[in-house]
Amino acid sequence: MVGVSIVNLHKRFGKTEAVREFTLEIRDGEFFVLLGPSGSGKSTVLNCIAGILRPDKGEIWIGDKLVASAEKKIYIPPQERNLGMVFQDYALYPHMTVFDNIAFPLKVRGESPETIKDRVTNISAILGIQHLLSKKPAQLSGGERQRVALARALIRNPPLLLMDEPLSNLDAKLRVLMRVELKKIQREFRSTVVYVTHDQVEAMSMGDRVGVMSSGVLQQVATPEEIYEKPLNTFIAGFIGSPP
Ligand code: ADP
Ligand code: MG
Repeated sequence: MVGVSIVNLHKRFGKTEAVREFTLEIRDGEFFVLLGPSGSGKSTVLNCIAGILRPDKGEIWIGDKLVASAEKKIYIPPQERNLGMVFQDYALYPHMTVFDNIAFPLKVRGESPETIKDRVTNISAILGIQHLLSKKPAQLSGGERQRVALARALIRNPPLLLMDEPLSNLDAKLRVLMRVELKKIQREFRSTVVYVTHDQVEAMSMGDRVGVMSSGVLQQVATPEEIYEKPLNTFIAGFIGSPP
């Protein structure tokens, strides 16, 4: 497990200030939820942690390793950050079987076929997708694809798992089921999780702590209970649905 430290992060796209003065300490082993309406800058923060985007200003630490600093001109690419990522659209490779999709990060690392087979078998059993290994992504349901994406993200046992709205393409019933699953998986794999969502119920039911964003700014960081009971401003109160 590993913590994440973000110090005064700024990121703009042209005239849009997507993220401003963003400072946050995510604890080792924590399930941290970044919550906010669409366009508030959540994915930008997550992509900066992942290394998909480079900050314009500020620093990002994963554990004791400085992975990005605009000022110090440090930028560690995603594959060297030792993390797993699950996207909203799952981003599976359509031409590969489920087995090959899950195995991909290990193949890239040059693991032996025996090790790969063992690891894929093991992780598929945990996620209940053994029976899907020879299928292609197009033959799977949304929930199955979500599990495959999760298996691929977890295959290297990353101490840090980043998830960007991973349940938003699932129907309501499956979404509720997968919330519980994801929490269980986090405990099993002992990963630190940074989880992005615009869904208040998801955030409040899953987060050890929740950070609320709006317009590129982190408004409040607290436990779900604290945010509900003591929202810092009227935006948060309205967004969470706190009692007046
Ligand atoms: P969220 O994930 O909370 O919906 P984003 O981080 O995706 O928000 O976006 C924050 C703001 O930055 C939005 O105004 C969005 O339109 C803008 N933005 C994000 N990515 C890009 C991009 N690649 N190019 C231009 N604008 C972007
Ligand atoms: Mg987003």
